[in-house]
Amino acid sequence: MSADQQVADLEQQVATLSAQLETANLAHLDLQNRLRQSEGMISVLSEHTSDMTYIVNRGGHFSFVSPSICKLTDYDLDEILRAEPSAFIHVDDVEMVREAIADAFNEPGTIIPINDHRVRHRDLKWLYFEGSAICMPEESGVEGVVVSCHDVTERKQQEETIYRQANYDTLTGLPNRLMFADRLATALLRGHRERHQVGLLFIDLDGFKKVNDTLGHNAGDDLLKEVAVRLAACVRQDDTIARLGGDEFTVILPNIHGPNDTEVVAKKIIERVREAIYLGESEVYVSASIGITLYPDDSEDQETLIKHADTAMYEAKAAGRRTYKFFTANMNQAAQEKMALESELRSAIERDEFDIRYQPIIDLKTGEITGTEALVRWNHPTRGITSPDVFIPLAEEQGLIVPIGEWVFRQACQMAHNWRETGRHDLQMAINVSPRQCQEPGFEEIVDRILAETQLPPSCITLEITESLFIEGADESAVTALHNRRAKGTLLSLDDFGTGYSSLSYLKRFPVDVLKIDREFVNDVTTAPEDQALCRAVIAMAHAFSLDVVGEGVETIEHARVLRDMGCDRAQGYLISKPLTAQDLDVFLNEWPGISF
Ligand code: C2E
Ligand code: MG
Ligand code: MG
Repeated sequence: MSADQQVADLEQQVATLSAQLETANLAHLDLQNRLRQSEGMISVLSEHTSDMTYIVNRGGHFSFVSPSICKLTDYDLDEILRAEPSAFIHVDDVEMVREAIADAFNEPGTIIPINDHRVRHRDLKWLYFEGSAICMPEESGVEGVVVSCHDVTERKQQEETIYRQANYDTLTGLPNRLMFADRLATALLRGHRERHQVGLLFIDLDGFKKVNDTLGHNAGDDLLKEVAVRLAACVRQDDTIARLGGDEFTVILPNIHGPNDTEVVAKKIIERVREAIYLGESEVYVSASIGITLYPDDSEDQETLIKHADTAMYEAKAAGRRTYKFFTANMNQAAQEKMALESELRSAIERDEFDIRYQPIIDLKTGEITGTEALVRWNHPTRGITSPDVFIPLAEEQGLIVPIGEWVFRQACQMAHNWRETGRHDLQMAINVSPRQCQEPGFEEIVDRILAETQLPPSCITLEITESLFIEGADESAVTALHNRRAKGTLLSLDDFGTGYSSLSYLKRFPVDVLKIDREFVNDVTTAPEDQALCRAVIAMAHAFSLDVVGEGVETIEHARVLRDMGCDRAQGYLISKPLTAQDLDVFLNEWPGISF
């Protein structure tokens, strides 16, 4: 081959190579472009996605983090890369994530799920993420485990809200009835397994209704919130305080050594709750009545324990409030009897089991009968004649006092009507009404209707109310109803004076016509100087208010004499007569000889 030929060949080869190189270059360029393009896409994607992706190498360090993490957590890329992955994960969740990554390393190519876990945001709140981890095969060129997770914070928050709404009381933030039942079940199970006692306290506030009625529901809500805080301060971390509703709270003491432990908590609660509570401008006081029951001593059954604690709480109320009572078997029997009585009381009206006795009241100056007090009796089918002291409180609790009271009122008015028919125009009929009764919206209409039915002037009737109306009830509607009654001419009498708080200030707020000194004071008026002083003071004070005074429970002629000498206007008691049936009263009125001192 000539030299020229060789040169030409070489040139040809160079040209071909150049062309090939050109093509290769173009292809490379294209590849580079495409690479750049996809890198750009990845970068844009990873920056704008709400997912986070990172790669963890075998040393446990980040080897890549997607820029989206910076956006999600508000940390700089540098800050993240400098730290360990665990620095951003909640301590309680770190182990779970670490395990998932380790599993991924152990099983290359397998997708290992990572359950929801908390990731730290720069402003210290926690975000929830869930996703998966995978160790890429070697040929992929990615060294380490790729973790890819998405943000599920919103979903978790919604779940949390739903959970809170279902299990917690929205007002106080305390566990509600549902959560209480759940916690109690857990506590009992543990108590059973670990052979220890569990204490259950049932708390009911005394005087809450009064705050709610006088200061309004917002004040009532604030009070409950404050009480919740105080209760929480009386127990340990693993005890549960729950609000069952209204002013009812419970405490579960999941691990106690005996009744003493519950007693300590009960005392603490009573002390804390009785302290003044400030609601806006007002300073109010409530107290706590607490019933206590112990697992397994009182019962091993959850429902029964709750019932027992409730029963004991009622005992605490009955014992004068602001105290605690342990459940006892006797209480159980009493509670069962009470329940039976309650259901029998419901049907007692239809069965016509009520009856009225009339107890005469005399004028201490003239010895003449001025009227009677109507006193209800229940002819119980098995118990026989049952005292109102037994069933009136029950009837009040059950709301049955309204129909019973109406029945008594009608009977007594009918009786007063009969008196007038037989020419006894001067006799007054005193009828007991309970606070609950005059609080009832229809109270005034009922009284008006019955008076009209029996053609009685309103002034023939005296309504007897107890001091408790001012203390517990304190319902303005009841006071207004009685005011209206008085304006129409009916007399009002303050019964059992001296047994309640006996504050004279309510005589100003609530004008009455008659004051009845309770028999507790009359009983010892002849022997106890304090009772003598008290009766004398009450009579003087009542007269200063232009009230008539009746001494109750006058059993002896000495009682009558001492009271008369003190200026007491009238007397009622066994000395004159026990309460009588309508028939016996008629005989009594005809034959009453008067009284000689
Ligand atoms: P109260 O209104 O203070 O009635 C006087 C109570 O003292 C009556 O008891 C009467 O029997 C009793 N008593 C009268 N004189 C004497 C005495 O000399 N010595 C003794 N130891 N006791 C005497 P009772 O009938 O058992 O009534 C108890 C309470 O039940 C009444 O006390 C009254 O608060 C209430 N109550 C009675 N009837 C009704 C009613 O129809 N409605 C309402 N809401 N309460 C009633
Ligand atoms: Mg009375
Ligand atoms: Mg009385």
